[in-house]
Amino acid sequence: MIPIPLGSTPAPPDLSFPIQVQGQAGVKFQNWAGTYGSSPELFFRPRSVEEIREILELARQRGKRVKVVGGGHSPSDIACSEDFMIHMGKINRILQVDKERLQVKVEAGILLSELNPELDKHGMALANLGAVSEVTAAGVIGTGTHNTGIGHGILPTQVVAVSLLLASGEILECSESVNPEVFQAARLHLGCLGIVTSVTFQCVPQFRLREVAFPSTLTQVLDELEEHLRRSQYFRFLWFPHSENVRIIYQDPTSKPPCSSSSWFWDYAIGYYLLEFLLWISSFIPSLVVWINRVFFRLLFNSRVENVARSHRIFSYECRFRQHVQDWAIPIEKTKEALLELKAALERNPGMVAHFPVEIRFSRRDEILLSPCFRRDCCYINVIMYRPYGKDIPRIRYWLAYEEIMRKHGGRPHWAKAHSCTRKDLEKMYPAFPKFCAIREKLDPTGIFLNAYLEKVFF
Ligand SMILES: Cc1cc2nc3c(=O)[nH]c(=O)nc-3n(C[C@H](O)[C@H](O)[C@H](O)COP(=O)(O)OP(=O)(O)OC[C@H]3O[C@@H](n4cnc5c(N)ncnc54)[C@H](O)[C@@H]3O)c2cc1C
Repeated sequence: MIPIPLGSTPAPPDLSFPIQVQGQAGVKFQNWAGTYGSSPELFFRPRSVEEIREILELARQRGKRVKVVGGGHSPSDIACSEDFMIHMGKINRILQVDKERLQVKVEAGILLSELNPELDKHGMALANLGAVSEVTAAGVIGTGTHNTGIGHGILPTQVVAVSLLLASGEILECSESVNPEVFQAARLHLGCLGIVTSVTFQCVPQFRLREVAFPSTLTQVLDELEEHLRRSQYFRFLWFPHSENVRIIYQDPTSKPPCSSSSWFWDYAIGYYLLEFLLWISSFIPSLVVWINRVFFRLLFNSRVENVARSHRIFSYECRFRQHVQDWAIPIEKTKEALLELKAALERNPGMVAHFPVEIRFSRRDEILLSPCFRRDCCYINVIMYRPYGKDIPRIRYWLAYEEIMRKHGGRPHWAKAHSCTRKDLEKMYPAFPKFCAIREKLDPTGIFLNAYLEKVFF
């Protein structure tokens, strides 16, 4: 691997040999929620970096663009391509485990559901994880996946080195000490700087988490926000819109033995089936949503529940419902104002319905160029609208009201999730946006890694 300092002109790789790797025509791509999809002209499943290089060369010869898909979980068109699509499922090895420094270097296509048990074997763990684990190392960092905990950053803050296969076919290594400027871009890369071939994570010693969940009210939790943030390392809460109901969730490291007191109703999924059916009915009678939110809170979320398990088993849970989602980050001090405005907007507009839960999480500031937490501690407010039996329920008025409130309070959108921002908006929201654009233009001058989503972002 030859590290190339930004600004140098790399020698083109020798690709005078015939191209071996085969692409498949006729493959249709759909994201996990079934909300966005595309029909790539050719779909590739390379087994090595050499094969990816060949695909890039073929794309250059034919004037095609190239998009890598990870776990396909982004609820937007960020991973879509009508040209060449690369699936990294066969580039998923663990390359190096450094037990002394608690670091692990992995190939970019490894799923977190593959990585977590491997880390278990070495007595290591990631300090924080998102809600889903069928996602790849490069995919989660690429969109700035986050969880909660004001002492913790978004997932890319756990990355200490990235290897990028550039449009030129050369490998660029970056870390805090090697190509540090590119590193702060590559940790949240949007899939537009090059193909990530490996990621090195900083881990922590393996730990168990104790999760305690209990009911509260919106007024109470907002009045006592600082206290909650102090009291629990991974504090978050769920608000049930059209009501005052809130479920507080504390997660903290513990030495207690594993235990579970989840409700049988939830475990046996009756709740899920009933909820999906009722949500489908509500697509004909929207006012039913108010009732559904209140009844389901009483049935499933109104008691105290405690679980203890390995950290990754507590962080990640099975999400069964396909859904539309928005998740903007606002400065933490705006949390109360923004949520009360969202509540008031729903009260003012009885025809505008909001599914439960609205999930409120917190993240520490960082220096990553396109991070929603760039130089500020943040509160993420995640809103959803389910798609019962794949049916879309009208959400535009809710979405617009939400976005207006988020923008007013200095919000920055989550990159994986659908938003209406263009370059003009993003330049105002993200102070380091011009710096990221300059790096992107240098690394990918012909725009081989662009797609429709990224064109909206950059042009
Ligand atoms: C059920 C569910 C739960 C979720 N929970 C959370 C959560 O708790 N917190 C949160 O923040 N988000 C959450 N998300 C969003 C999710 O974490 C992000 O969308 C994440 O990016 C998905 O990873 P992926 O591997 O599926 O990436 P994909 O969606 O496949 O791709 C994401 C981006 O990364 C690029 N990419 C992937 N691999 C490479 C590579 N090797 N080189 C270059 N570019 C690459 C793609 O081109 C694309 O631009 C959730 C999504 C779902 C569906």
